[in-house]
Amino acid sequence: MHLDATDLAALIGLCRAEIDRHGEHLSALDSAIGDGDHGANMRRGLEAVFAERDAIAALPLPAALERIGLVLVMNIGGAAGPLYGTLLMELGRGLGIADTPEAFAATLEHAIAAVARRGRSGPGDKTLLDVLYPVQAEVVRRSAPGRIAACARSAAHSTEAMQARRGRASFLGPRSIGHEDPGASSCALLTAAICGYFEE
Ligand code: ADP
Ligand code: MG
Ligand code: MG
Repeated sequence: MHLDATDLAALIGLCRAEIDRHGEHLSALDSAIGDGDHGANMRRGLEAVFAERDAIAALPLPAALERIGLVLVMNIGGAAGPLYGTLLMELGRGLGIADTPEAFAATLEHAIAAVARRGRSGPGDKTLLDVLYPVQAEVVRRSAPGRIAACARSAAHSTEAMQARRGRASFLGPRSIGHEDPGASSCALLTAAICGYFEE
């Protein structure tokens, strides 16, 4: 991954625009199985990163990702903030070490494992991890960005059939079935925004 400051600033802008565009939808998903704030939470987080984008983009990539993670923790709040924050902070820490596709895949795997530990959650729990694991598998296969984005979308859709075992939605038990998980949905949107940039 060779991202320069221009790439990073552009990616931040794309992620912020994608979340902004779909904020109402994310909150509607969260209204069905949670407390209805996921769109507002994510918008707040991405706005805060966007406000700092020039300073962030000027940092070396590992420090930039760590800073994004911290800003997300401080601004998304709720359950999703520490999880997205952990993902970005661990990516930043890992990417400092090496700079090959293999190293990126290994770092991503490590960062996703840290998210799972933080949430005490795993595959099939109906969370953003149900998007992150399949995305990781496509990254290992070195799939094209368009394919990774499509995989993320279909993985988010597949959470509809799951019963939530973590987070607020788990309080609903079987009534959580039949609704897409909001965190999985935001994760697919962000994946698509990032992949879209690398497709060009
Ligand atoms: P809150 O539930 O505090 O209002 P959000 O609405 O912003 O937080 O985020 C909810 C999302 O967070 C869920 O849709 C789910 O994807 C994710 N989530 C919640 N708890 C966990 C957990 N323990 N592990 C992994 N993901 C979780
Ligand atoms: Mg919520
Ligand atoms: Mg909340």
